[in-house]
Amino acid sequence: MSLCPCGSGKPVAECCGPLLEGAAASSPEALMRSRYTAFVLEDQDYLRRSWHESTRPGGELLAHGTRWSGLQVLTSAVDGDHGTVQFVATYQEEGDKQWQQLQETSRFVQEGGHWFYVDGDARWQTLRPGRNDDCPCGSGRKFKKCCGA
Ligand SMILES: [Zn+2]
Ligand SMILES: [Zn+2]
Repeated sequence: MSLCPCGSGKPVAECCGPLLEGAAASSPEALMRSRYTAFVLEDQDYLRRSWHESTRPGGELLAHGTRWSGLQVLTSAVDGDHGTVQFVATYQEEGDKQWQQLQETSRFVQEGGHWFYVDGDARWQTLRPGRNDDCPCGSGRKFKKCCGA
């Protein structure tokens, strides 16, 4: 039994797992978490299914080999059939030593009992951790004793 990659602390089978298998998300935040999990698990079909058809891109949605190390949901709000979720996600691209942080406010819409990702305002930044900061890889160790060694 493994913990869900979205960081909820729950087993994946009681969190994002059922959503990836077709269950409806109960909220925009639940959908957002499941999409993060789909990025971690490289489930491109789910990313496509959960993306509203009006904004869904064609082609590849995943950069293979990206290492995701954590998701933090900052705020989430629902207003009828619309929702927003503000989150921060940390990742490292394959072959890159530096960690990047994505901060996004995503917009969601509910149709036919399912929430869909519409679009978002995103900002990216390269993390420059101090030697005594927690390592961005999520190991729980200090940067100087982990990836910064
Ligand atoms: Zn989850
Ligand atoms: Zn590390």
